[in-house]
Amino acid sequence: MADTLKDNLYVNEPIEKIKNTQDKVNITFKEGISKSYDFVVLTAPASTYKNIDLSGAGIEQEKLSLMQQIGYGQNYKVALPMDLSTLKDYTSIITDSSVSFFNHDETIALLYISSNIKNISNIEKICRKGLNLPYGNLCAKLEIAKNQLYETYTTPVMHSWMDDIYTLGSYSGYSTTLSEELDKKSYQGGIEYKKLFEPIQGKLFFAGEHTTILDCIGTMEAAVESGERAAKAILKTIHQ
Ligand SMILES: Cc1cc2nc3c(=O)[nH]c(=O)nc-3n(C[C@H](O)[C@H](O)[C@H](O)COP(=O)(O)OP(=O)(O)OC[C@H]3O[C@@H](n4cnc5c(N)ncnc54)[C@H](O)[C@@H]3O)c2cc1C
Repeated sequence: MADTLKDNLYVNEPIEKIKNTQDKVNITFKEGISKSYDFVVLTAPASTYKNIDLSGAGIEQEKLSLMQQIGYGQNYKVALPMDLSTLKDYTSIITDSSVSFFNHDETIALLYISSNIKNISNIEKICRKGLNLPYGNLCAKLEIAKNQLYETYTTPVMHSWMDDIYTLGSYSGYSTTLSEELDKKSYQGGIEYKKLFEPIQGKLFFAGEHTTILDCIGTMEAAVESGERAAKAILKTIHQ
């Protein structure tokens, strides 16, 4: 992909503004660089739209406001280095707010936590008790994972997707405030879309798990489905 994109690949350059002009879509990066493209696919989570200036993107205000109301989960993960090879009876502990599971060689306990819990040490305590492991408080030494690919850690580490400015939530879901809107579908040029995420003026497309036409929003499958469909739609537009 990098070979194909050549100078059009911008790493660590968040988009700050999207503007639909007469025949192009103009995007501006945080550093101020501005580029115009025939087609743009916005794949950022809807939770982050509030950090992008979309006022000139051609999205109806009411629609934009609904997009921004999509509910996002508050999940986070905590990885604790532990020797779990002595586990006999149980290999997982489920509480009302967390699930624990382990890597294949049983040296890392992974806590998958589903809400914003103030005292993570309590979850560790419950897990240790349930697994018959000696008392310990590794969570007292928790580090926040760095924004760095292929980083290695020897200390307990966590990442919270709701505190990550590029996700602001773990994944989208149906909520009491927005449910019916997420199910509405429409067709443009023979391609099906979630009505909320129809393409804008045939140039600005949306992808990402929140834009899927599948029922399983919030999953990898949903993200892939939406990306493939956006690619098909663009190819169709080019070849018509
Ligand atoms: C803890 C956790 C567990 C999960 N478990 C599962 C599971 O078991 N099975 C499953 O199918 N799914 C699971 N998911 C969900 C799955 O990871 C997501 O549905 C999927 O990654 C969504 O893909 P996406 O491309 O829509 O969004 P993302 O992967 O979030 O990609 C969006 C990208 O947009 C970028 N971005 C944001 N703002 C800007 C900006 N202004 N400019 C430029 N780029 C920007 C972000 O940096 C990010 O790279 C899990 C998610 C979490 C958080």
